Amino acid sequence: MEHKLYIHNTLSRKKELFEPISSPHVGMYVCGPTVYGDAHLGHARPAITFDLVFRYLRHLGYKVRYVRNITDVGHLENDADAGEDKIAKKARLDQIEPMEVVQYFSDRYHRDMDRLNVLSPSIEPRASGHIIEQISMIDSILESGMAYGSEGSVYFDVEKYNKQYHYGKLSGRVLEDLMSNTRELDGQNEKHNPFDFALWKKAQPEHIMRWPSRWSDGFPGWHLECSAMSARYLGERFDIHGGGMDLMFPHHESEIAQSVAANHTDPVKYWMHNNMITINGQKMGKSLGNFITLGEFFSGEHSSLTKAYSAMTIRFFILQAHYRSTLDFSNDALMAAEKGLDRLMKAWATLEKLVPSALSTSDVVKLKNNCYEAMNDDFNSPIVIANLFEGVRIINSVHDKKESLTAGDLELLRETFNTFIGEILGLKQEESSAQNNAGLEGVMQLVLELRANAKAAKDFATADKIRNELTKIGISVKDTKEGATWSLD
Ligand code: ZN
Repeated sequence: MEHKLYIHNTLSRKKELFEPISSPHVGMYVCGPTVYGDAHLGHARPAITFDLVFRYLRHLGYKVRYVRNITDVGHLENDADAGEDKIAKKARLDQIEPMEVVQYFSDRYHRDMDRLNVLSPSIEPRASGHIIEQISMIDSILESGMAYGSEGSVYFDVEKYNKQYHYGKLSGRVLEDLMSNTRELDGQNEKHNPFDFALWKKAQPEHIMRWPSRWSDGFPGWHLECSAMSARYLGERFDIHGGGMDLMFPHHESEIAQSVAANHTDPVKYWMHNNMITINGQKMGKSLGNFITLGEFFSGEHSSLTKAYSAMTIRFFILQAHYRSTLDFSNDALMAAEKGLDRLMKAWATLEKLVPSALSTSDVVKLKNNCYEAMNDDFNSPIVIANLFEGVRIINSVHDKKESLTAGDLELLRETFNTFIGEILGLKQEESSAQNNAGLEGVMQLVLELRANAKAAKDFATADKIRNELTKIGISVKDTKEGATWSLD
């Protein structure tokens, strides 16, 4: 690779030169959503952060296998080993099948991610589809002596693990401190120690999602799915593991312990964590009443919002902060982001119309290099955006004939804008839906005419291909006596 990319590794707490285990292949695993409710800013930030990483690695020429899971079983309410399964609880309250909850909210999550222009991962495995892998991993951990069975459940023996390795090396915690903090908490008699975590939980009679195992009819612990599925699709040691900072402990810490115990190797070369979003300086949470779903941003229907915000405004707002910085959301900050994005997009459109001159008054090569330098410095998107705004200034000056660019520099500036705004930051021009539909109507008339011509010429393969491809992108075509009609799904 011609670029030297530096990534901040949570494990070493410093920026390290990115050297994949087997370049040009890169394995990346990111903890995805537990699907029991609509996506909010707390989902958008990791999705957009690791979309930026995915897009940039691909731009540099790496072949990235990006795995982002869907948690559909085993994530208990208090993120530990007690309480009800989040999805089962929703299913019970709505009196539907847990898998209906999963399907419904997965579909809505995907729709929101599409609107945010977040690329689909290469593989999106579900925990419930990998029970066999998880059971087999528990076997390996038991074999290594780092787990014990108790009353039909299996727990990871943190104290024993810590004697040989360091439980807490990712989050910087020390087990002795954890012990003194949790020692008094009792009533968890099944465990040797309160901080031991479940690998397998025996299901209570009322628990719906359960699988047979030699320990009990039960279900896997939440931390286990990511260890089992990352090893399944990326190997026992892979390049990048990402997620929100809130997952660092105990989730990611426990992932490391499980993988080391089962596979005798540290699973991840570079750990990456995005920082949290606050709302008007406060932590975000349902109980705090400041919880805004992405759908509410897009519609503007929330008491904290004065208007609707487009998906690209949300994306731009998130990219304006470096992923390791906290990001404070407010209605004013979003309005400012909307204005900034509008200026950027207008300049990008103006760039197409600029006419070249005999000489350049600005250094476009430097601008492009600055953008790469920022991305190579741990994906510093706010610095990329600052450089693009220097580009905006140049574009507007050239447009006003106060500055000039040669044909070569104009071409380079276009290439830089297309690469960094479109391909890497993943921002796109948004039109109102009315404009969209007007444009689409004309295009569809043409497409249906071409299909009718193909049918008339008995080229049914082409006619079918057109219809099938349209179905795939959500446009259904119906053949009627009067000819073909179309509708958006
Ligand atoms: Zn995970």
